[in-house]
Amino acid sequence: MSCSETRRLIDAYLDSELDLRGALELEAHIARCPGCGAEEHGLRELQASVRANLIRYALPPQLEARLHEALGAEEPAASAVSEETRPVAAMAVRPMRRPWKWAALAPAAAAALLVVAAVLSVAFAIASLRQWARAVREPAPRLPRAPLAFA
Ligand SMILES: [Zn+2]
Repeated sequence: MSCSETRRLIDAYLDSELDLRGALELEAHIARCPGCGAEEHGLRELQASVRANLIRYALPPQLEARLHEALGAEEPAASAVSEETRPVAAMAVRPMRRPWKWAALAPAAAAALLVVAAVLSVAFAIASLRQWARAVREPAPRLPRAPLAFA
C-alpha cells in the first residue's frame, strides 16, 4: 500500500470501516512508514480527544415526550438505559418505520412481464417452425379424384 493510498483510507480505518484485508495492509504500511504512522497517531489522539471532550446535551423531557409522541412510539424502558446515554440510546434502539413502497416493485414487475413475453414468443416461434418442418417433410395430401363422368 502506498503513502497516498494510506492517507486516503486512514479515516475509514480509524472509523473501523475497512475490511480485514484493507485494515491489515494499512497497519502494515503505518508500521514501517514513519510519516503515515505519525499521521495515524495524530488522528487517533484527535479522535480520543473529541470523544472525551464532546459536550453532550440531554433532551428536555418535554421535547423527548413530544418526539416519542410524533414517532408514535411508547416510552423506552427507563431502567434499561442510563441517564447519560438515554437520548442517544433511545434514538438508536428505535428502528425507522417506513411504509412499504409498492411503486418500487413496478420496474421489477415490468421486467418480469417482458421476460414472460419473450419466452412465450420464442415458444410460439419454435412451434411454428416445427409445424412448418412437418409440413415440408410430409408429401402433399392427395386430392380425391373427381369421378369421371362422361355421358
Ligand atoms: Zn506512508
